[in-house]
Amino acid sequence: MDQAILDYAVARIVDLCGIPSPTGYTREAESYVFAELERLGYKPEYTNKRSVRVRLGGSGRPLVLAAHLDTLGAMVRSVKPSGALRVSKLGGFPENYIEGENCVVHTRGGKRFTGRFLLDKPAVHVNADVGSAKRDDASLEIVLDEPVSKADDAKALGIGAGDFVSFDPRTVVTESGYIKSRHLDDKASSGVLLAFAKLVADGAASPERETWLLFTNYEEVGHGGSAGLPAGVEEFLAVDMGAIGDDLGADDRSVSICAKDSGGPYDLEMTDALIALARGLGLRHAVDVFPFYGSDAGAALRAGYDIRHALIGPGVQASHGYERTHREALRGALALAGAYCCGSAAFAPAG
Ligand SMILES: [Zn+2]
Repeated sequence: MDQAILDYAVARIVDLCGIPSPTGYTREAESYVFAELERLGYKPEYTNKRSVRVRLGGSGRPLVLAAHLDTLGAMVRSVKPSGALRVSKLGGFPENYIEGENCVVHTRGGKRFTGRFLLDKPAVHVNADVGSAKRDDASLEIVLDEPVSKADDAKALGIGAGDFVSFDPRTVVTESGYIKSRHLDDKASSGVLLAFAKLVADGAASPERETWLLFTNYEEVGHGGSAGLPAGVEEFLAVDMGAIGDDLGADDRSVSICAKDSGGPYDLEMTDALIALARGLGLRHAVDVFPFYGSDAGAALRAGYDIRHALIGPGVQASHGYERTHREALRGALALAGAYCCGSAAFAPAG
């Protein structure tokens, strides 16, 4: 595995981060992944729920690798008398993680308007309690970049309850190999899975078993992986961000192997096999317990699929905020996911 495939993964991640896809508003991201898979020579399909599903090859013991294309975001709840917008969150995050952030309102009529999230009394020279004021869904509002001073002004633009809101991802790739952006959860892993598809398409890796990719939506609200799995699938490997912090072992250069999250322990044999592969490949990795986390694999089980399940992913710092990962974490996730499907040989360290 060389640097070129990591360059490819990073380029796809940057592209995906640039496509707004808050949960429920993911059509453009789905189309991007669908078109890229076609360009690589595959025949992807949309499930009824508009997940993107593709068979990479191989036969026997069907396995699906899943990443989610939806991200955190918001939906307009109401237009305030001032013309500012009150929102309802899509996914879980504290208000201070979006305070001051630029955003785009995507109206039901297909128009886009920019704005930014501000405290309702944001001026330090006027408001004495800017630092201490409670941030919640009533006090943090969107101020549109339009000449709006009352509710009717915003409504005249076609803005109203039910419009989707995306956040500025502020994607930056550093010389030192870091990628800083919102929504690396789970666009980093989506890029990794596209890179895996490219390796297989190029003949650099070959699945030893029937291998599928599934790019889901609605993960951030809990039902991403609950539908649309390939028929007869036996194993579900969720490829989603690795949590970092407190007493966890991973950092943003590691691949995380999650042994347990809010939904309980992951499958014993699958997880053991992934740990053995990570060790054998010499990957920078950690086996961790994620205290506040759920994955598409858990969603699939709760939906009634009879599967074994596991979760791996690139370590992502400051999850659900302005996140960061590193090429080494992407390499680890790609090598581990790839080796699980294709054997270790194609993913052994160069030299
Ligand atoms: Zn995620």
